[in-house]
Amino acid sequence: MASIEMRNIVKQYGDGFPAVNDVSLDIADGEFMILVGPSGCGKSTLLRMIVGLEDITSGDMIIGGKRVNDKAPRDRNLSMVFQNYALYPHLTVYENIAFPLRLSKTPDDEVRRRVDEAADVLELREHLERKPANLSGGQRQRVAMGRAIVRQAEAFLFDEPLSNLDAKLRGQMRTEIARLQRRLGITTVYVTHDQTEAMTLGDRVCVLRKGRIQQVASPRELYEQPVNLFVAGFIGSPPMNFLPATLEGNKLQTPFGAIELDERRAGLVAGRELLLVGIRPEYFEDAALVDEAKRPHGTLFKARVDVTEWLGDSQYAYIPYEAPAAVEQQLRELSRELDSEELRTQAVVSIDATSRIREGREADFWLDGRKVHVFDPQTGDNLT
Ligand code: ATP
Repeated sequence: MASIEMRNIVKQYGDGFPAVNDVSLDIADGEFMILVGPSGCGKSTLLRMIVGLEDITSGDMIIGGKRVNDKAPRDRNLSMVFQNYALYPHLTVYENIAFPLRLSKTPDDEVRRRVDEAADVLELREHLERKPANLSGGQRQRVAMGRAIVRQAEAFLFDEPLSNLDAKLRGQMRTEIARLQRRLGITTVYVTHDQTEAMTLGDRVCVLRKGRIQQVASPRELYEQPVNLFVAGFIGSPPMNFLPATLEGNKLQTPFGAIELDERRAGLVAGRELLLVGIRPEYFEDAALVDEAKRPHGTLFKARVDVTEWLGDSQYAYIPYEAPAAVEQQLRELSRELDSEELRTQAVVSIDATSRIREGREADFWLDGRKVHVFDPQTGDNLT
């Protein structure tokens, strides 16, 4: 097993801006690190530079304490699991898993021992004589992982391994990968654009945008303390709402009423004409269901509900509103990047399943002001 250290890594393909731009990242021995970001942010390129499939324009890639920039992929002893699994259709499961050991001319009895061990861990014992065509997507995925395990590689690298699977299987495989990684304790780097995978699998998540690291943190920290608008909007589903606001005294004036900030936070955001307030859907509640004791700590407001979506344990209510011209430009750019057009035109609130709020009617909402984030609309920085 090994740690992976990246020092000021740059990848320049042509004349445009770099695909990976000055990335420094330390992945500890045994850590599960997720690389996440929208399409084109450079996550696959970064992974391919770790494994050696892509030259590094500048910077240092250090694996297990050794600089590997000039080492061929086969000399890095890393195992990459691809999206399409790259299994050999004419070989059995056994021979697919054994493949790297055959290449290194491992003796037969050792091959048998290691393949059996991997098959036990992956619950593939009864499928060893089958061909890949006769396996389910999930089983193929496990075979691909088996091949990685038998090599006793220093690290696992995954490039969107679950994106070809249907939703149910993806959920199962996600749990399986998490369990397996914890059991084996192998350093793992996992590329995805799926934020559920990002939030559930990794010890830490590295959020990339246009080739640059935005934030590296535990899933919980990313969710609760996003450093900027981009991370705040990217992490969370449905996404955070961004409302324009001005500060008057200790109060943020928003389209949904005044939100009182404590003195410390009011101090941090003071002196700016316009702000963006970030409010997660679950910070809202149906006012009728809020405890009397809690009410004074939040903001009560009325709004017309456009659409509701019932999810069984909760429901989403959509409240249309117009973003004022002053923040239109910022929100337009953000919504394009996050691929979420509604950002500028509606707020989504998550309320209790028992709420009697109805579509097309006005309703009373309550908003927990203690949890809101306040952003600088120009820089995008989280000021609180
Ligand atoms: P996706 O989720 O769509 O796979 P990604 O985040 O993995 O995206 P990369 O595939 O790393 O992004 O690409 C980063 C940038 O580098 C993109 O702008 C892409 O067009 C560019 N790029 C990737 N590979 C090459 C290449 N071989 N030659 C030129 N440009 C490339």
